[in-house]
Order: sequence, then C-alpha cells, then structure tokens
Amino acid sequence: MDIRLLFDEVFFFLAAFYLLGCFSFVKNYFPQFTSHTGATFSILSPGIRFASVAPTGELFCARQLPVCFTPEGVWVLRNGQTLETEITSANDFVFISYDQMQKIEASTHYVAIDDIKISASSPVYAERMARRIREIKKLERKDRREKIDEYLRESFDVASVHSFRKTYHHPIRILKALASALFVMTYVALPIIVFTPLVVQAKWSVILGLMLSYHLLIVFFTMRVNRKIYKDVLEYRLGVIISFFLLPIETMHAVRHVTKESLAQYDFITIAAVLLDKGSFMKIAGREIYRARHLARQCRNLALKNYWSDRSYKIGLLLVNKDIDVENALAPPEDIDHTTVCYCPICGSKYNEYAGACVDCGMGLVRL
Ligand SMILES: [Zn+2]
Repeated sequence: MDIRLLFDEVFFFLAAFYLLGCFSFVKNYFPQFTSHTGATFSILSPGIRFASVAPTGELFCARQLPVCFTPEGVWVLRNGQTLETEITSANDFVFISYDQMQKIEASTHYVAIDDIKISASSPVYAERMARRIREIKKLERKDRREKIDEYLRESFDVASVHSFRKTYHHPIRILKALASALFVMTYVALPIIVFTPLVVQAKWSVILGLMLSYHLLIVFFTMRVNRKIYKDVLEYRLGVIISFFLLPIETMHAVRHVTKESLAQYDFITIAAVLLDKGSFMKIAGREIYRARHLARQCRNLALKNYWSDRSYKIGLLLVNKDIDVENALAPPEDIDHTTVCYCPICGSKYNEYAGACVDCGMGLVRL
C-alpha cells in the first residue's frame, strides 16, 4: 500500500485524538489551573475548556468545596447539593458527629460517610480526605484540636506547595522533553518524511522503532514519578496507565497526568496563591474573603463560625505574603457607575438600592 495514502488516513485520527486530549471538563467548584509551559498559570472557568495545546502544558485540579473539621465532627455540604449555585448560606452545611460515623469510604468521585456523600474531584482527593476524617475520628476529643490545626496549616502551606514543585521540577522537565520529542516526531518529522523525496530513503523500522521507544519511555517514566506522588492512591495510577493503553496518543499529555491531582491536599486558595499572578489571585482572594465573612456572620454554631473567620484571616495572610494590600482585594470592581449603591462580591450584580442580599446568589451585598 502507498505510504502516503495510509498516512492520509491515519494522520487525521492522530491529530484529532491529540486535540481531544487538549480539552478539559471543568466542573463547578472543581477549578483547574493551566499553563502552556509551567511558567504562567491561568484559572479555567467551569465548562469544557481548552487547557493547552503544547505537550509541555501543566494542569492542576483543585477543590473549592470546604469540609470544616471541629473536635466533635465535620460540617459538609448537604447531600444532593446541586453545586450549580454559589455557596452563600450556612444552611447549605450539615453536621456529622464522629460518634455517629460508622463507615468512611473513599470512592472515585466522593467520600461516603455512611449515606452522606462529599463530592471529590478525583480518587486522590477522596482517599486523602477520607484518611483525614478517619484519623481525627480515631483520636481522643482533647487531641483532635491539635490535629485539625495541623491539617489546616498544611492545606494553607504555600512553602510546601513551592517545595513540592521544586522536588518534581526535574522529573517533570524530563517528561516534558520526552513528550515534546514524540510530538515533534509525530506531527512534524513524520509528515515531512512522507510528503518529500525523503520517503524513498526512509527506514521505517528505525523511525517507528524510535517513536515506540519514546512512547514506552514516557509510560515508564510517568509510572515512576506517579508512584512517588500518588503512592497512597493506586486507583489513580492505574487510571493513568489504562488511559495510555487505550489511547496511546495520551502519552504526549503525560505531564498533565502527573501534575493534575498532585496538589489535592491543599486548599484551593493556596494553589491559586502559588500559581496565579498577583492580579488574578487578588480577585479570587477578595471574593473568598467576602464569602467567608458572610458565612461567619450567618453561622450560629461557634466552631463553624470560627472556621469561616479563620479562613478569611488565612486568605488575608496569603494576600500579604504576595505583597497585596487586603483592602485592594476587597475594593469594588472598576466598572461601577454613580447609580450603583451596592454590589454582590460573588456574582458581581449591581444594585441601585440596598437590598440586603443578592437576588441571584443570596450573598450579603457590599455597600459603596
Ligand atoms: Zn450575587
């Protein structure tokens, strides 16, 4: 068979499957951070989003849904919460005491505490969260506070995210180089050889052998790095290998499969503080401070109230560490005109008269 005809047939699928892997489905409350090279990141809004076309592209998933630990139990979002609306009401949360808990199980997309399910973005988050709940439940009541504070410190620990990125900087760089080499061979060198006189001299056994070697190298290298990062979650590692087996083109997106869930134990806002530039982080942090303060005001339960107040304080510290004035993060948007009396810091709706709470999302309005 003519090699050009064969290539014509196959190339379309090679390109289509690669492009398919460039898209990412972003669910509400599971934001993703993406970068073409790993230098500058942006945040993807919910929906089907184009992450990045380059094989050097990095992707980090985060989780914006809080699980609030107290020494008596956990506060989680109610079962069946559609997650289509913003979290603006303290009534969205339900309390489960450690004494009531019978079974705490991690699944692919949720943690099940008896019949209550806590949404997760991946088996990595589910496994790590289930382990935290089990560990705190196991402790004596008097020792729980210390452990909870330790977890909170850990999830807001910017230095630890930086150190993680530093530790895996070299392995990820090697993986980027391998994936880029395979990409160039497949989408640049191969068409050049096929559609030029080079085709006559081409040694196909060498070319295909080389491509296969790169492919296998990426598979083995990914397995090696993932075994360190996700040592506690075999399910995730297996999922990656299965995707490589079912769709070999996916190896060119190997970097994403390594980075994707690697920051699962950190708070969403901590990841944002590390990955985003000042301006983007300031906007997100401002919204989250308003949300935390609003929820703290609403809560009757003291422990939950403290959780939200503490969260607002910790986000403030992240802003200061990034050299951003907290007041600037809380400043009203620039496009406000003289008729606006108050606005919603979460959805951005503007009001000509003070209405108390936002009609669209229920959030307490900010007076100007
Ligand atoms: Zn609103």
